[in-house]
Amino acid sequence: MKVEALPAKPGEHYLHNYEEQSEGFDWSEVEKEFSWSQTGKINMAHEAIDRHAESDRKNKVALYYKDQHRHETYTFYEMKRMTNRAANLLKSHSDLEKGDRIFIFMPRSPELYFLMFGALKMGLIVGPLFEAFMEGAIYDRLDDSDAKSIITTPELLPRIPKDRLPNLKTIFLVGAEGAEESGGHVDVLKHLDSCSDKFDVEWLEKEDGLVLHYTSGSTGKPKGVLHAQYAMVQQYQTGKWVLDFQEQDIYWCTADPGWVTGTAYGVFSPWLNGVTTVILGGRFSPDAWYQAIEDFGVTVWYSAPTAFRMLMGAGDALVKEYDLSTLRHVLSVGEPLNPEVVKWGAQVFDKRIHDTWWMTETGAQVICNYPSMAIKPGSMGKPIPGVEAAIVDDQGKELPANQMGNLAIKKGWPSMMRQIWNNPQKYDSYFLNDEWYVSGDSAYMDEDGYFWFQGRVDDVIMTSGERVGPFEVESKLLEHPAVAEAGVIGKPDPVRGEIIKAFVALVEGYEPSDELIDDIRQFVKKELAAHAAPREIEFKDKLPKTRSGKIMRRVLKAWELDLPTGDLSTMED
Ligand code: ATP
Ligand code: MG
Repeated sequence: MKVEALPAKPGEHYLHNYEEQSEGFDWSEVEKEFSWSQTGKINMAHEAIDRHAESDRKNKVALYYKDQHRHETYTFYEMKRMTNRAANLLKSHSDLEKGDRIFIFMPRSPELYFLMFGALKMGLIVGPLFEAFMEGAIYDRLDDSDAKSIITTPELLPRIPKDRLPNLKTIFLVGAEGAEESGGHVDVLKHLDSCSDKFDVEWLEKEDGLVLHYTSGSTGKPKGVLHAQYAMVQQYQTGKWVLDFQEQDIYWCTADPGWVTGTAYGVFSPWLNGVTTVILGGRFSPDAWYQAIEDFGVTVWYSAPTAFRMLMGAGDALVKEYDLSTLRHVLSVGEPLNPEVVKWGAQVFDKRIHDTWWMTETGAQVICNYPSMAIKPGSMGKPIPGVEAAIVDDQGKELPANQMGNLAIKKGWPSMMRQIWNNPQKYDSYFLNDEWYVSGDSAYMDEDGYFWFQGRVDDVIMTSGERVGPFEVESKLLEHPAVAEAGVIGKPDPVRGEIIKAFVALVEGYEPSDELIDDIRQFVKKELAAHAAPREIEFKDKLPKTRSGKIMRRVLKAWELDLPTGDLSTMED
């Protein structure tokens, strides 16, 4: 089986000339990498695991797994065998069929990935769920998607309301061996090792289902976004262009598979490219994270602004205690990346953090900064070759440079979502004139073609006739030495339409006071603009965030205006 080699030498970027390579880029070239181009059939698990196990990469490490108790290594060959066992186990203990939805609700562990890819080998649609979800959130997602099966642990089992989910036929439990047979559940660890390590993957059409991800719930009730097998084309190619994968890379994506980043870029993109991946179990801790980079010799690191801000808060002295010299490329996604954080990254890691913009619905990265392209801190970068993005008005007319409007993508990019589960009206509502996918984010493009995120469209503030993006104000607030985190909203005002209100969490050692409020306000006035300075500042110990680390401005707004807070299933404790 042909597997294309990645560039051998650091510095030989796949995307070495953005303009030239974007010109007339043709996705059918990428399709040639996959079995689909020869047989007309496809399966993510084959492309991500089996084909490497059958190539020179057979004994290459696919997965380094580490948590407090376990430290394990699996080659591509071993991953093939373990995922075959998992597929046989799922198949022999259920009547699951191609296209059925199976959910995975458990903490990160090697078994999570064996079972995820085992399910994919059967042609099932996998719905990953973050382990912290409570009963209501589980019920909503399993009911909405008519799930047939779920894989979980004995600890999490009580959160699954089986009696209210009549179509949920089979529960697989990953826990203390032999303890669980009595409840009619399938004890995974008891059977896994005795299952055959041979399995014939279910060959699929490129439009068959792959994963069903519920969105982060930052702006409202999470939506069930269905992706097709074909998404792999873009997930694979962005691994080359954006993550800049090279054959010897040790790659670490910090996202949990409960969010789209944790599947698309936690495992799909690196494994499609045959790259070694690190999965760290357990919770965030600055020490454990830096230790992981040192221990594994991580070269490419993909994380999120909230994590970088927390690392910033942990202090620069801590960074010096670890050897992070292997890092070659650092990237971010999920929220706007404040210029202050980019500056900090350059200082402490000697690496500029590369921002990437995309969303659950886009299935893969769309607007990015590339190693071979100059970074403008605060900009999301430029669209990947082969995908067209623009700023359009509410009628779908393209706006000229430097005008704020709807960030839109030309319909039909490879990894575009194929359905909002159970909600075709919602799906249709994303598209304008059957031409543009409208993201719900507000942005502008500068004269050099760089995109600048301004905020969610619903969050953009109209104050005294000026449009103000909350992100710019939040980024400026963050530059003030006392500010650890900031969330900015528009608060209705009879005179100005809206006024800017900022919620601020302080850096340790600072105390709330009227002087501090005044000082922060003057700082924004002086450094940004008078009209953008918050008229009100309120201090909070913590800002409300989704479990994927995003500030929930709609919750701040609801608190402020005494409105119902809406769906809080994805909010942190
Ligand atoms: P929901 O759709 O349920 O309200 P969500 O939009 O936060 O939640 P995701 O799909 O996880 O769910 O996140 C996508 C959104 O995250 C984008 O629409 C954008 O607002 C934000 N985002 C992602 N990456 C970036 C980035 N690099 N810069 C700015 N914003 C980003
Ligand atoms: Mg969204």
